[in-house]
Amino acid sequence: MNKEVRTRFAPSPTGFMHLGGLRTALYNYLYARKMGGKFILRIEDTDQERFVPGATEVIYDTLRGCGINWDEGPDVGGPVGPYIQSERKALYLPYAQQLVRSGHAYYCFCTKEELDERRHAAEAAGGVFKYDKHCLHLSPEEVQAKLDAGVPYVIRMNAPTEGETSYDDLVFGHMTFRNADTMDDMVLIKQDGMPTYNFANVIDDHLMGITHVMRGVEYLSSTPRYNYLYDAFGWEKPQYIHLTTVMRDAQHKLSKRDGDAYYSDFVSKGYLTEAIVNYLVLVGWNPGTEQEFFTMDELVDAFDVHRLNNAPGIFDINKLTWFNFEYIRRLPREKYLEMATPWFDQVLAGKGIDYARLAELMQERTEVFNQIPDMVRFLAALPGYDVALYTHKKMKTNPEVARTALALVKPVLEGIGDWTEANLHDALMAAIAGSGMKNGAVLWPLRIAISGQASTPGGAIEIAYLLGRDETLRRLADGQRRLEGAE
Ligand code: GLU
Repeated sequence: MNKEVRTRFAPSPTGFMHLGGLRTALYNYLYARKMGGKFILRIEDTDQERFVPGATEVIYDTLRGCGINWDEGPDVGGPVGPYIQSERKALYLPYAQQLVRSGHAYYCFCTKEELDERRHAAEAAGGVFKYDKHCLHLSPEEVQAKLDAGVPYVIRMNAPTEGETSYDDLVFGHMTFRNADTMDDMVLIKQDGMPTYNFANVIDDHLMGITHVMRGVEYLSSTPRYNYLYDAFGWEKPQYIHLTTVMRDAQHKLSKRDGDAYYSDFVSKGYLTEAIVNYLVLVGWNPGTEQEFFTMDELVDAFDVHRLNNAPGIFDINKLTWFNFEYIRRLPREKYLEMATPWFDQVLAGKGIDYARLAELMQERTEVFNQIPDMVRFLAALPGYDVALYTHKKMKTNPEVARTALALVKPVLEGIGDWTEANLHDALMAAIAGSGMKNGAVLWPLRIAISGQASTPGGAIEIAYLLGRDETLRRLADGQRRLEGAE
């Protein structure tokens, strides 16, 4: 029987969820579910200087909000906890000491000043500084004396300086690195007793029984170091699956400054979680079929790690917007109304507009919620417009026709007591029929007069209804004034 698949997502609590990170979480989750295995959440907070209060909650909320649930993690517990690295602090040192005893690691007492000096000297000579194994050559007695005297220390890996290391990556295939290039005597335990990421990831992945390590491609060339540690301990190595970077285009990464790096950037613009998740999974993976829309369950079914791409995934905002549009169209009306209301309120609060009706007109036109205010602003105040808008070839209308049209509808509208769409419709249609004019030649000018723009959600009747009687008549009169003397 095969071992149970155990994957993990190991974010550092920075306060934000990068889209690339979210995609990593998704793939790990999907793979675990697909294989009937376990998905583990581990918080990597050994870098205490970067601690951001509330950041862990951002991780929980984002993942849960996206439908990514973990089987083991800080808040749900599990058999191999704790799942927060800082709470595991005490367990790393003995492992590092074991490596010291076996010759795979050593104590280093070099001070920051000494290291800086050697770094500057190396750089001045045109080289790159790598720790020079200075402290490896201390005698056991010298080491013990310094430890006894309480001299601050770190523990470094005693990396090989020659030879090569190879491993098989599920996405990138057989990888070979020269040890002289990728290895260095990296710090395993810092002066404050905390492990470095480089050490902790190995210890934790082993102790947590992780079978598949799926993470960003930036770790591709560090993996030989981690394998060196697995071998030093005599531990079985996980299967590595490195994921390419999520890019904005071929040259650019998603960036914080451009507001396209974080999940929260998109949510606050009015992208739906389902659309983000659906599209994000497809940036870097394909199902091998034409299917584009997936529920989480369908993704679990379809997910195949062998279909992960090894070319950088381009996160195309237009494609995401299209997904969003499609997901918004599919929302139950009530849900759309609930989600659109704060966006309506930005420009229409207190205007007495029938939001339920507006939602019906807007839902099929909404690509992203943050477009709503601009689309409905004309209901709050008539925008200034050019009388050229009254000219429309297909509708067979121009300013002159428009003058006739507005004169025709004015008394009709004034005569409507109960301002419903049905009444507006019946009265206007009857008047148009009686006039011998074409529908378009009347309704186009009316819509221009009351909206001030060529493109609106809904037609003249719907807009007149939304505006109400007084505002409609006021705008109509305004249109007539604009048309006076127009060619
Ligand atoms: N804490 C690391 C990061 O956020 C995790 C990398 C890994 O998955 O091992 O990049």
